[in-house]
Amino acid sequence: MNYFEVKARIDELKNIIRENNEAYYVYDAPKITDFEYDELFRELRRLEEQYPEFKTEDSPTQKVGDKIAVGFKEIKHKYRLYSLDNSNNFDDLRKWYERVKKEYEKESDLELVVELKIDGLSCALSYENGELKLGATRGNGTVGENITENIKAIKSIPQKLSKPLNLEVRGEVYMPVSSFERLNEENIANGQKEFANPRNAAAGSLRQLDANITGKRDLHFFAYTAISENNDAFKTHKEALDLLKELGFEVNPNHKLVKGINPVIEQCAKWENERFNLDYATDGMVIKINELAKQNELGYTSRAPKWATAFKFPPEEVWTKLNGVELSVGKTGAVTPVALLEPVQLAGTVVKRASLHNFDEIQRLQLNIGNSVLIKKAAEIIPKVIRKKEDEFLGTYQTPTKCPCCGADLVKPEGEVVLYCTNTLGCPAQIKGRIEYWASKEAMDIDGVGCTLVDKLWEKGLINDFADLYKLTMDDLMTLDLIKEKSADNLYTAIQNSKTPSMTKFLTALSIKLIGKETADLIANEYPTLEVIKNATIEDLIKIDGIGEKAAKSIVDFFNNDNNKIILNKLQEYGVNPQGSAFEKISNIFEGKTFVITGTLSQPRNVFEERIKRLGGKTSSSVSKKTSYLLAGENAGSKFDKASSLGVIILTEADFDVLSKGNVDEEKL
Ligand code: NAD
Repeated sequence: MNYFEVKARIDELKNIIRENNEAYYVYDAPKITDFEYDELFRELRRLEEQYPEFKTEDSPTQKVGDKIAVGFKEIKHKYRLYSLDNSNNFDDLRKWYERVKKEYEKESDLELVVELKIDGLSCALSYENGELKLGATRGNGTVGENITENIKAIKSIPQKLSKPLNLEVRGEVYMPVSSFERLNEENIANGQKEFANPRNAAAGSLRQLDANITGKRDLHFFAYTAISENNDAFKTHKEALDLLKELGFEVNPNHKLVKGINPVIEQCAKWENERFNLDYATDGMVIKINELAKQNELGYTSRAPKWATAFKFPPEEVWTKLNGVELSVGKTGAVTPVALLEPVQLAGTVVKRASLHNFDEIQRLQLNIGNSVLIKKAAEIIPKVIRKKEDEFLGTYQTPTKCPCCGADLVKPEGEVVLYCTNTLGCPAQIKGRIEYWASKEAMDIDGVGCTLVDKLWEKGLINDFADLYKLTMDDLMTLDLIKEKSADNLYTAIQNSKTPSMTKFLTALSIKLIGKETADLIANEYPTLEVIKNATIEDLIKIDGIGEKAAKSIVDFFNNDNNKIILNKLQEYGVNPQGSAFEKISNIFEGKTFVITGTLSQPRNVFEERIKRLGGKTSSSVSKKTSYLLAGENAGSKFDKASSLGVIILTEADFDVLSKGNVDEEKL
């Protein structure tokens, strides 16, 4: 670029960034991804550094946020609010640290606090004598929007502190990812606008002229800064966080006080992966000098503190091209569309496939092969397609009417969005799917029986259903060219060893529509033998807490189906004999309570599970808002974090002992 081209590019970048600032900050409706925005911002900053003569005071690199939205009263902040400088690589993070450390020659390593960067909307709350007086958005850092009434509608923000302090508290208002997804589902159903991400949903919900609407949205607040005129209130950032917690604020538990930059980098690397297990959005980490005296010495640029910086995670969302749609037929006959994508880097991995959920979703998004699509990484599941480019119409992908595997008709049961192949007993994809699932970890857990082996057995006509696995001989297994004698032997033993599963595993493995592991567990806890389950009526089954009419009907239909009866008889004939797990209840003290167990405890988990069930409680494998208690042993990981963020009560083993021994005869426990 020559000198004039540089000037033109700088002007162009300023205009693009200003336009996008308005869409993002004023209308909560971004037009580009944060990653794309950050790239433009960094390009502008780099050019301004190389050509300082083109750097002007009104450049977006010198400012915080944007103008405030119409309709709100302006409020001048008592203390200025800033943005944060950021980088997206560890080298820059080390350079920042070296720059800061140079100021303190004598010290070996500086104390830093590394914490999650919550992707919400920053707010400043003023407390006088412990009472909430004012709530404001950051705005342009000097002037924000007065949103006091809206702030008061957020339940997790204390209106009165546990001490009568004069304090400014800053933090991030956010919407949990699960609530954001629910809100968007409701908005879609009501024909209203969808929010692009949890941050925009939080901002849009908070900046409502009618505070009643804010009150109806599930908003939360993580406090991360306190400012006090009393110099003795706290001397470090960590002390401020501890005080905020003591005063009744939610403080994000995932912060760490460290020395030097290496542990900071460790934390950044850890959360780059683990962020997807959290129920709130985080776009990076914030690193702050711990000592407030040092923070004051270092001061600020026109836009950001010099004593803090942010590390931005690789993007969760990226644009790519939809090259095709693969139709997969599952074990229940559900036909699901999977997006085949132009391979693209996303959050550290190359992505080639993404979920499209169902055909209604394809219609809703007006997608077709060839469209540019925005894909997003979510927790542990394959990425999903969020939307196509707004102005790109290529027609909509035709919903199939025939099964892609066997050609049978597809149907959509009333009230469902999923299409099913009607050929339940004859569709090879369904049958093979059920055999694979039977052997999977979640079900009978037969090591070595995966999709390749099932395909081979099927092709050779050795199996027609999952019961046939038990009639396979060593000779049968030796005929498979994949298998050597040793692995044939292992396979044979693994199959034979799976003949006495728990009732939960057995019921799960049957692939009964709507019956997953958790529902199977509920049934297994109530019914002692398979005979009783086979004879249960819908009325019997719906008496079990957690089993609805649809699930009950599905179970009854399954056991009344002639083909299933044949398979069950074969299983019995081959000696597959599920072990009942119904427990004798000794008390109801845990009635209505759901426990999740995590970490290492003094005894195996099933001991605790049994005890919970005998006391009338339930167990679940995942933490949600419905979880009553998390029983956490040592080295508890992401479940602990999720439970903390959802406010679920966390019990140590000792707490659990006290609770469970309540009023029960201890000998029975
Ligand atoms: P920022 O979001 O990069 O960082 C500063 C903000 O981080 C603070 O104001 C605070 O709100 C927040 N934060 C979260 N957790 C924090 C913690 N633990 N401690 C301190 N602060 C914490 O900066 P910004 O100025 O608010 O916005 C710029 C960013 O916004 C861009 O980098 C981009 O990602 C996004 N943006 C996107 C668009 C778009 O069109 N997509 C437009 C404008 C801005």
